[in-house]
Amino acid sequence: MVAKVIDGKAFAANVRAQVAAHVARLKEQNGITPGLAVVLVGEDPASKVYVRNKHASTIEVGMESFEHRLPAETGEAELLALIDRLNADPAVHGILVQLPLPGHLNSELVINRISPAKDVDGFHISNVGLLGTGQKSMVPCTPLGCLMMLRDHHGKLAGLNAVVVGRSNIVGKPMAQLLLGDSCTVTIAHSRTKDLAEVCKRADILVAAVGRPEMITGDMVKPGATVIDVGINRIERDGKAKLVGDVHYDSAAAVAGAITPVPGGVGPMTIACLLANTLTACCRANGLAEPEGLTA
Ligand code: NAP
Repeated sequence: MVAKVIDGKAFAANVRAQVAAHVARLKEQNGITPGLAVVLVGEDPASKVYVRNKHASTIEVGMESFEHRLPAETGEAELLALIDRLNADPAVHGILVQLPLPGHLNSELVINRISPAKDVDGFHISNVGLLGTGQKSMVPCTPLGCLMMLRDHHGKLAGLNAVVVGRSNIVGKPMAQLLLGDSCTVTIAHSRTKDLAEVCKRADILVAAVGRPEMITGDMVKPGATVIDVGINRIERDGKAKLVGDVHYDSAAAVAGAITPVPGGVGPMTIACLLANTLTACCRANGLAEPEGLTA
């Protein structure tokens, strides 16, 4: 079997186009422009690239982008005061604090200061609780992107065996909650899981969010399964820098029914879902109907 490649780049372009169309309609019919505020503390090179990309994507769909770049030595009180101002600003519908924060800042305290309604990363403890209890919430962007691609590929997910490898708060756990919400039978695997290969091999849907290059190999994949590779790992091969996922693509693609590549799979969906979440937050804040198909 040769797996169907799930084209996350094309899928994300479609999501962004849908968001842009909704934004144009909001402006025209309601005089509202959705706004996303991104806060970057310090000079982490990867974070700077992410923030630049988020800014460009926000502008591209017609939203307002508010960038706040603060020096690495910014104190907690100053950062919390900025978040309070953004919480109170009606032009700001989404707030994202780029992680990781410098070591002297308490990420949990900072994230939990964001108004849950504006928490477009879905990391606030209220949103985690709402998602866990099956209530309307802001859903973390990366797992939301995975869910959208899975729904598109499978139609209904009910009854499928899903295995999520990884139990982080930003990917593994919310991914498992979303799959459970769609009535999959969900297993969460992690570094202490016994016989990971056997667990993975039961999966109709296998989501890898491990952070270990090419760890999931074809012999761990059930024939015909859908494999979603969240991993982004920079490695060196044959003297060249290369981006690979947590799945060994060639061996897995020979067995799977469908698979996301790296790059060009889950990655592009994350920013697209950030924009979708900002749009959703804006609609909710203004008592307007939420766009369909852009949230869980
Ligand atoms: P993380 O916080 O480091 O969590 C990794 C998880 O993998 C942990 O739960 C860990 O288990 C588990 N794990 C580690 N080694 C394992 C092993 N040998 N067998 C089974 N499980 C193992 O990572 P993360 O933030 O969730 O990110 C995971 C990957 O996704 C990374 O490559 C990251 O770069 C990527 N990512 C991509 C996007 C995107 O936009 N595409 C977004 C976020 C993250 P324990 O809990 O037992 O330690």
